[in-house]
Amino acid sequence: MNVLVINCGSSSLKFQLIDSKSENVIAKGLCERIGIEGSQLVYQRPGAEKQTTKSDMPDHKEAIRLVIDALTAPDTGVVKDLSEIGAVGHRVVHGGEKFASCVRIDDDVIAAMEECSDLAPLHNPANLIGIRACAELMPDTPMVGVFDTAFHQTMPEEAYLYGIPYRYYEKYRIRRYGFHGTSHFYVSGRAAEVLGADIGELKTIVCHLGNGASISAVENGKSVDTSMGLTPLEGLIMGTRSGDIDPTVIEYIAHKENKSLEEVIQILNKESGVLGLSNGLSSDFRDLEADWKAGNAGGERAMKAFAYRVAKYIGAYTAAMNGVDAICFTAGVGENSPTIRSMVCEHLGYLGVTLDQEQNQKRGEEAIITTPDSKTKVLVIPTNEELAIARETCAIVEK
Ligand code: AMP
Repeated sequence: MNVLVINCGSSSLKFQLIDSKSENVIAKGLCERIGIEGSQLVYQRPGAEKQTTKSDMPDHKEAIRLVIDALTAPDTGVVKDLSEIGAVGHRVVHGGEKFASCVRIDDDVIAAMEECSDLAPLHNPANLIGIRACAELMPDTPMVGVFDTAFHQTMPEEAYLYGIPYRYYEKYRIRRYGFHGTSHFYVSGRAAEVLGADIGELKTIVCHLGNGASISAVENGKSVDTSMGLTPLEGLIMGTRSGDIDPTVIEYIAHKENKSLEEVIQILNKESGVLGLSNGLSSDFRDLEADWKAGNAGGERAMKAFAYRVAKYIGAYTAAMNGVDAICFTAGVGENSPTIRSMVCEHLGYLGVTLDQEQNQKRGEEAIITTPDSKTKVLVIPTNEELAIARETCAIVEK
């Protein structure tokens, strides 16, 4: 079955058409600047030149119409018509407590997703727009929602509760949810395969280090803790997000700088993290590393704080699972930065981690980067959220 995987943002839409049998990507692309002047579709088939088409996209429905046109075009398309697309898998950011696994989308599910929008006002509405547009344009194609939060629904109460009055959990469901679940699920599963181990007997820590970054403790295939919380602002220091912070800092900045709560939260989301720590230099680790090499303080300061926070969480999650067998690095930074991996692993001598310096130079490919005698294994596993979504979508539709 061909599965169309859709990841809708507020002004963008990423898609991949995946053959669920061979697991090959048949075509992929991106609609940019939806609802903004200068919108364009980037479309790519394996082995063919990338095509960029400038076209007006006032809304997501038009974007999806253009994606369908591209996929079915007589010359450059990859399917004859819509009947050759067996299902659509939608990435949905927040599933709240309602969705502990992926689900076939119907009107009731859409209504339940709408209720979760309160918890993710920046993301869920865009996901829903994409779902509605697909439902209109492909009414006969089954659709599945795959939630970023679902994998972490196995966290025990002591891991997901905040130390605040319990009535706020009862009234508003304020708790830790966690995100990047599809990635943590895929990478922990793949690590077990690479190690030839039974996932049901493995304690794994997955470090998803991208522009957004989170870390999870996966015990016997189940997430038992993760660093993001009610929203993706909690946890690690990220590209532009602060991660963990004393909440009083918010009040303090608001008073000192005469800003509203919303403005300070915006600063914590958009101007903080390694961007903020490097004094606005960059949120991209390539720039930070170049800055450090050039002898400047900003890049070094930001990278050291970032790596330290990751190492600290690894310690916490080792305690949460009473041990760890494997630590995985994934996403943009985790897959491509030997420097960050090495900086994190410098803190892990107590786990018997011995880095293989040569293996650690690898970028963007699966590798075990510790020596064969290293007590705890460290791996690089490129994440593949689209494939994980396609697999889950296919499983639901074929059930
Ligand atoms: P993601 O959000 O997973 O797409 O990750 C994007 C981030 O990965 C970028 O902002 C960079 O900081 C980082 N990144 C990508 N390529 C490299 C590289 N070759 N070396 C270091 N960092 C990289």
